[in-house]
Amino acid sequence: MRKPLIVGNWKMYKTITEAVDYVDQIKDALPDPEQEEVELAVPTLFLESLVEHTRGTNLKIVAENCFYQDEGAFTGETSPLALRELGIKHVIIGHSERRRLFYEDDATINKKVHAALSAGICPILCVDETMKRKQEHDRIVWVVSQVISGLQGVKESELSRVTIAYEPSWAIGSGNEAATPQEANEGCYLIRQTIAHLYNDEVANQVRILYGGSVNLSNIKTLMQKDDIDGVLIGRASLDATTFLEMVNYQR
Ligand code: 13P
Repeated sequence: MRKPLIVGNWKMYKTITEAVDYVDQIKDALPDPEQEEVELAVPTLFLESLVEHTRGTNLKIVAENCFYQDEGAFTGETSPLALRELGIKHVIIGHSERRRLFYEDDATINKKVHAALSAGICPILCVDETMKRKQEHDRIVWVVSQVISGLQGVKESELSRVTIAYEPSWAIGSGNEAATPQEANEGCYLIRQTIAHLYNDEVANQVRILYGGSVNLSNIKTLMQKDDIDGVLIGRASLDATTFLEMVNYQR
């Protein structure tokens, strides 16, 4: 049985004062992690203080990105090893905004997946799908190829530490609409089938696959009821503490 995972992704929003205030509002009101895991991906600058601030609570702090080397002359980058030392357990890798705005390609993303795993951090590997690909009915090739290249060289024994997120950029951000629960489930199912093909059914059934793109209070419950959707990555709707808390408690 795959445990539900709800991840807020703040992107580059909030100041540290706002971040601490937000975390204070939710950190003691979260579900038992045995039932549902709740995580917040925050800007690198906030990681250390928020990890401290949430110690002993049910909220886990996640990094939004990391580099593919542990150290070196890489001005401005973040070492996965340094993240590990802070106590970070998960890192988002290959978000569509990183792919599109920072030109991260599949090879770079694959190197980051390996670097995170060797540093002892579990990657949340994001798989994109553009509107163009969707309209051209090219989604299968596109989604499948990102899963294949993102996981290249990842051993079966490491796969239990990997989470995958189906995050079509056509559904992300203001002005876009969420995928329907059916479309979102199809994307997640496609990813699971690809993993079954690359590895086997057993691991494919264990890997958690999330959906992200305009998830909000009104669609979270229906999305979470779908067979292949094990959790969600929430952007805008995670920026407000009360809304995020309500979303986390979608089952009540
Ligand atoms: P929105 O929820 O704002 O569409 O963002 C989704 C996202 O990018 C999560 O990683």
